[in-house]
Amino acid sequence: MENWTRRKFCVSAVAGGIAASASSAFGAIAAKAEENPSSKFVNGNVLRTAATNGKRPCIISALNGLHHLDAGMQVLHATGDTMDAVLAVVTPVEDDPNDNTVGYGGLPNEDGVVQLDACVMHGPTRKCGAVGAIEKIKNPAKVARVIMERTNHTFLVGEGATKFAIDEGFNPMNLLTDKSRLAWLAWKAQSSKDWRPGLDSPEFNKELAELLDTPEREAWAPWIRHVVAHPPTGTINCLAVNEKGEMSGVTTTSGLAWKISGRVGDSPIIGAGLFVDQEVGGAGSTGRGEENIKIAGGHTVVEMMRRGMSPADACMEALHRVVHNYEFDKSRLKLFDLQFYALNKDGVHGAASLWSDGEDGHSISYAVHDGTEAKAVPFTPMFQGHGGDY
Ligand code: ASP
Repeated sequence: MENWTRRKFCVSAVAGGIAASASSAFGAIAAKAEENPSSKFVNGNVLRTAATNGKRPCIISALNGLHHLDAGMQVLHATGDTMDAVLAVVTPVEDDPNDNTVGYGGLPNEDGVVQLDACVMHGPTRKCGAVGAIEKIKNPAKVARVIMERTNHTFLVGEGATKFAIDEGFNPMNLLTDKSRLAWLAWKAQSSKDWRPGLDSPEFNKELAELLDTPEREAWAPWIRHVVAHPPTGTINCLAVNEKGEMSGVTTTSGLAWKISGRVGDSPIIGAGLFVDQEVGGAGSTGRGEENIKIAGGHTVVEMMRRGMSPADACMEALHRVVHNYEFDKSRLKLFDLQFYALNKDGVHGAASLWSDGEDGHSISYAVHDGTEAKAVPFTPMFQGHGGDY
């Protein structure tokens, strides 16, 4: 949270267009460094003294992991295995039919097929594994771990990934829940221009009413309307450091709802959706994957921490690069949201979001357990407001 005043100044300067011509991501950081006597520049990049207020063990995740961080912390206390710990957090989220952004119950692609992406990185062995567009397997993060541990490959995709998982003993299943299937039918109804009515037509309402033919299903109508009109993203990233300073990370997702079959976002891409360097720390991302891929965000955040930035500042630097790609144009940046999460080897954590608020207008948070209890901690936002209305 240090430099908060300065950051707010930079953000409002960007918002007002003052920064558009002269300021760059590094420019904003250079300005911050000038007022911080512990900073110095090497090769044009700022180096700052390492933060020292971390706690180990520590585990952080996207907010949908909040209620599972206890399980991760228990693993860290019991065995110290950081890969087991991060999987203890994300596996129940993948299993949960009510989380429609990850695993079972995740919203499908435009063909009505759930395709999942995930990756893992294990600091102590410097190994990683990833899986993209896998179908029928509800725990892609575990598949990524098996790729990491039992093969000398790092990334399997599509049919090959599904076959590999089945061969390794994962059970194939239908990942569509009744609710996600009906949401997909409703999306199809409004998006197929020639043979179905549009979202705002009386016919669509009639069609939706026909789909939602029981009181339980009827209650889903507002949510269905929302996800049809605003294709959601959603993911869980989780990072852990144990008492000794060993680290692991995972990112797992069903990706962008209604995506083109085969679309893979940032989540399974080592260096974008996740990066862990045992010497430094780890970083992950949720939100609009395409924007993160363009700046290799996970790797960028870790490299900034290597140069001495705090986790929160490193996340903010990655967001600066995204903003720079849009020439600071808030009207276009408003079309998506993006979050970065970081945890360094000392157990210092931080996270930054492009926009401050969620869909409900409240500020958004991530989840942290530093040994005492699991709690929600606000992101450091770049802009005030809500992004992500496609
Ligand atoms: N980053 C994920 C993707 O683009 C989605 C998300 O996190 O919301 O696939």
